[in-house]
Amino acid sequence: MRLSKYFLPTLKENPADAQIASHRLMLRAGMIRQAASGIYSWLPMGFKVLRKLENIVHEEQIRAGHNPMLMPTLQSADLWRESGRYDDYGKEMLRITDRHGRDMLYGPTNEELITDIFRDSVQSHKDLPLTLYHIQWKFRDEVRPRFGVMRGREFFMKDGYNFDVDKPSAMHAYNRHLVSYLRTYERMGLKAIPMRADSGPIGGDDTHEFLVLADTGESEVFYDKNILDLHLGDRKIDYDDWDQCAGIMKEWTTPYARTDETHDEAKFNEIPEERRMSSRGIEVGQIFYFGTKYSDAMNAKVVNSDNKEVPVHMGSHGIGVSRLIGAIIEASHDDNGIIWPEAVTPFGVGIVNLKQGDDDTDGACEALYKSATALGLDPLYDDRKERAGAKFASMDLIGLPWRITVGPRGLKNGVVELTNRKSGESEEMTAELALEKLA
Ligand code: ATP
Ligand code: MG
Ligand code: MG
Ligand code: MG
Repeated sequence: MRLSKYFLPTLKENPADAQIASHRLMLRAGMIRQAASGIYSWLPMGFKVLRKLENIVHEEQIRAGHNPMLMPTLQSADLWRESGRYDDYGKEMLRITDRHGRDMLYGPTNEELITDIFRDSVQSHKDLPLTLYHIQWKFRDEVRPRFGVMRGREFFMKDGYNFDVDKPSAMHAYNRHLVSYLRTYERMGLKAIPMRADSGPIGGDDTHEFLVLADTGESEVFYDKNILDLHLGDRKIDYDDWDQCAGIMKEWTTPYARTDETHDEAKFNEIPEERRMSSRGIEVGQIFYFGTKYSDAMNAKVVNSDNKEVPVHMGSHGIGVSRLIGAIIEASHDDNGIIWPEAVTPFGVGIVNLKQGDDDTDGACEALYKSATALGLDPLYDDRKERAGAKFASMDLIGLPWRITVGPRGLKNGVVELTNRKSGESEEMTAELALEKLA
């Protein structure tokens, strides 16, 4: 992409109403624009990152054996009356009446709708286990929308639902989700820690939240420092292997890690003092096992192997896809701007032309841009007629992991400059070598 043809409305000044770094930087880097309180338009660069995160979530869900689908944003109130949540959900639910006077709502989550789909089509244990998920916009009329996409009213969420014949099978689905989530966050370059949590309005006993540690997080968390050393890495995972998934679940949930809602001071104090940590965290996902709560209320039954009708065991599992962008930036930025992890960066490398309009420099940049594109590096070429300082400031702000700087002085010696955004280190080398390093 050429910057001269891209829509990247960056801001020089800090927006007054943005209180935290990720919100400030997303606005300044031209990723989002507020449309109404807690509701955002996703400008091209923000949209590009959102799609990258969405793709990672899809890939990891499909790898775990889950079925992608898409449910609508609007739902009929009737299903929610059946489960009893139409009244329970309260003011966070945006309620709408259509022209015929029918009660509708903008979905905050989809347990009812998916249970309705399930009960119409599945009657036998032979069709289980089954996990369905979608990635769709949700609406929750938050009392205090703030921090940009971190606590929006309209937000993009992956929500998945498992249907199993009994509790042991549903617990495997729970463990399988935990493992697939660990993998998803690691791929995004994030450390998200599963913590024992409280189930809230979804209901149920078994639940873990995934938290990214950050000073600006809204949750208070307590954990054993040892949990920070755990990595899934590239170990081979068989999602149908109950023991392997349970083993990983155990590995991650044995060290103490809880949010303030379930924090147990006595248990926490059993950890050696130097390992007792408390800090703030951002909730980027949550998994639940809630048994037959919805299947009982909505009569979703299957015939089991003993030919008996039993209510199906369920769980639901969510990832805050749009919030994750905020969390990634909170975890990875400096005073000059964003520092994207390689896996989610909007472009692979920035090319800065120090003397736009100079034939030799333009020629070298064009050749570099062409080769980088052919190599799949997805370059962003700053071909604007701007001062070098302004170009560097834009590149630092939007935070691409690598920058190649091309100027007349270097070209005389046959070199360009390759700079790493994170370390700030620069090295001169031929354009060919720079590309070789990035490819
Ligand atoms: P919170 O405690 O932050 O209000 P929640 O527990 O109500 O979140 P869940 O129902 O568990 O949210 O939804 C799954 C995920 O969706 C959350 O873990 C979070 O990452 C994301 N999410 C929830 N509410 C919002 C919001 N208002 N804006 C952006 N993302 C959200
Ligand atoms: Mg909430
Ligand atoms: Mg929560
Ligand atoms: Mg939650």
